Amino acid sequence: MAEFDYIIVGAGSAGCALANRLTQDGAHTVLLLEAGGSDRRLWVQVPIGYGKSFYDPRVNWMYRTEAEPALDGRAGYWPRGKLLGGSSSINAMVHIRGQPADFDAWRAHGNPGWGWRDVLPYFIKSEDFPAGEPGWRGAGGPLHVTDVAAQSHALCAAFLRAGEEIGLARTPDFNGSRPEGIGHYQITTRGGLRMSAARAYLRPAMGRRNLRVETHARATGIRFAALRATGVDYLQHGVRKTAQARGEVILAAGSVVSPQLLHLSGIGPGAELAPLGIPVLRDSPAVGRNLQDHLCIDHLYHARCATLNEELGRW
Ligand SMILES: Cc1cc2nc3c(=O)[nH]c(=O)nc-3n(C[C@H](O)[C@H](O)[C@H](O)COP(=O)(O)OP(=O)(O)OC[C@H]3O[C@@H](n4cnc5c(N)ncnc54)[C@H](O)[C@@H]3O)c2cc1C
Repeated sequence: MAEFDYIIVGAGSAGCALANRLTQDGAHTVLLLEAGGSDRRLWVQVPIGYGKSFYDPRVNWMYRTEAEPALDGRAGYWPRGKLLGGSSSINAMVHIRGQPADFDAWRAHGNPGWGWRDVLPYFIKSEDFPAGEPGWRGAGGPLHVTDVAAQSHALCAAFLRAGEEIGLARTPDFNGSRPEGIGHYQITTRGGLRMSAARAYLRPAMGRRNLRVETHARATGIRFAALRATGVDYLQHGVRKTAQARGEVILAAGSVVSPQLLHLSGIGPGAELAPLGIPVLRDSPAVGRNLQDHLCIDHLYHARCATLNEELGRW
């Protein structure tokens, strides 16, 4: 059975960054398991392909939620990336950090190390945005960020003016010292192509001898010795496999599947797992609860000037 120091489940935003950092000094071996396939696809690399991969089951898990009572019984659509880079390979590329107050609220809830001042150095370290405000923005990091404000459509300027008229403060940079307000987004691209976590973090590490990346490898459960994770079972091209971890098993399969894998491995609400025939290793009712998402709602208007739909529709 193959053995590694670390096994990372999921090659998404988190998994790619972890795979790079953990193999950087050459001291540890890492196995990165990804259920999806390669990200070398035109509509993944070209930013406008966002609209294509939004509904493409080859690169997208395309989840649907249960009917939500708070949404009048509607079931929501939940796209999630299923390829190297994970959701960072199909997302809208908007580069915007959370609000400092939100991080501070996490810390205040009993999570040391997650306050704004704690996480800011990592945001700065990750970035390549040389024109940014010193002390807030980073240069030379793996994740290249592009300012596209100068190329924005004329309607954007009208929209921003309207925002100012109703009293919203204009901010020149959501990731600078004035994160709240109305302004232009920056995007994670370089040279006109998507800057996913796979491109920023995984690609530069792929040649390292201490990193093994397995695609089409779907983890099905975590192995435990007592309460210590010792390995991962996975399915690859119909074959059941197991890899062993000397050090740690790291779940980076996203907000939906990471808790699901814990449930399948016996860690979760015992009262729900036992009737399903899953032996309960640790009764932890909070695992898989309290998921929150931001809803997106489109507002559609007829415009009196040509929009990108007219300009690009022919393509
Ligand atoms: C359509 C869309 C638009 C978005 N737009 C933006 C945006 O503009 N800006 C922004 O900041 N954020 C955006 N996001 C959110 C952002 O992309 C995610 O928050 C982020 O990528 C999540 O990272 P993650 O590592 O937690 O999970 P993911 O990146 O989703 O990675 C999870 C990985 O685990 C793999 N996996 C799942 N199950 C298994 C298994 N059993 N075994 C092995 N591998 C498995 C998946 O295939 C995937 O590759 C968007 C997301 C989507 C889907």
